[in-house]
Amino acid sequence: MPVLTRLIPSPVVVDIRPGALDGLAGLLADQRISSNGKLAFAISGGSGAALRERFAPELPNADWYEVGGGTIDDAIKLADAMKSGRYDAVVGLGGGKIIDCAKFAAARIGLPLVAVATNLSHDGLCSPVATLDNDAGRGSYGVPNPIAVVIDLDVIREAPARFVRSGIGDAISNISAVRDWELGHEVRGEDIDGLAAAIARQAGEAVLRHPGDVGDDSFLQVLAEGLVLTGISMSVAGDSRPASGACHEINHAFDLLFPKRAASHGEQCGLGAAFATHLRGDAETAGLMAEVLKRHGLPVLPTDIGFDEDEFLKVVEYAPQTRPGRYTILEHLDLSTDQIRDAYADYAQAVSS
Ligand SMILES: [Zn+2]
Repeated sequence: MPVLTRLIPSPVVVDIRPGALDGLAGLLADQRISSNGKLAFAISGGSGAALRERFAPELPNADWYEVGGGTIDDAIKLADAMKSGRYDAVVGLGGGKIIDCAKFAAARIGLPLVAVATNLSHDGLCSPVATLDNDAGRGSYGVPNPIAVVIDLDVIREAPARFVRSGIGDAISNISAVRDWELGHEVRGEDIDGLAAAIARQAGEAVLRHPGDVGDDSFLQVLAEGLVLTGISMSVAGDSRPASGACHEINHAFDLLFPKRAASHGEQCGLGAAFATHLRGDAETAGLMAEVLKRHGLPVLPTDIGFDEDEFLKVVEYAPQTRPGRYTILEHLDLSTDQIRDAYADYAQAVSS
């Protein structure tokens, strides 16, 4: 008997809506997560206090841990602090850094993770990757997918708009990343997973083509769902390929060459995606991406985030080294510095008009 379908690792609960946090205590009491309430919460030292005050009375058996920052050392410290507690699950309650730290810590001590996101800064909410700063800059660590994902759109609306906007750039960059994957398939015979590509691309297209903005619930719903689905597309593929191509190589190059001045993940990925799409010769999509990024207050030119043209040329030139083995439009064209300069001049003119 042939196996006719496949199983996809995915959360048992996805709850994305205004007011979702009101149901958090009940959701955690689900017997698949924690019937006795022995939970380890990871929160930030700042805004985490208010969340703790809100949930501690409903969850008397939970313990609360403040996360120091977004480094691998912070994540290891968190795991060490939690490991003797006999918990059923770890709950990451906060922004991207908190969730990344909680994901890593939960994986290290062998517990499932519940991700409760208070902003939408990137697609790591539900992905099998934890991104943490280390001595070499920034690393991606493989971890299991969260067992549950909760996003309260009322809370997202209160988050600093910059963090929510960052998620838009990350979601839109899927479209460019999937094109890079297709290129790798066509040119080098790389395996492509059609389901993972479809999920990632649809998530990006839905955000790209939605007429709303971060002030409206229907847009936030599509953005939050898009970021969660992007994470699942990575689980389907088994790596970050559906959501990370030249766009993310450019992002990593900004982080590595200018660690003190780098902008947010989504700001850099969105810009990288528009530029990579331009390099691919797809002027129509590149133009639409640039228009949408601008409409949401995201950068389309390096100068929008404080980098001059020469610095950007260095970023693009260095980008392929950030992901050895990943084939994208940058590796495909293998441009010289002068060719990058010309391509950038074309791009800058196209998106500024
Ligand atoms: Zn990303």
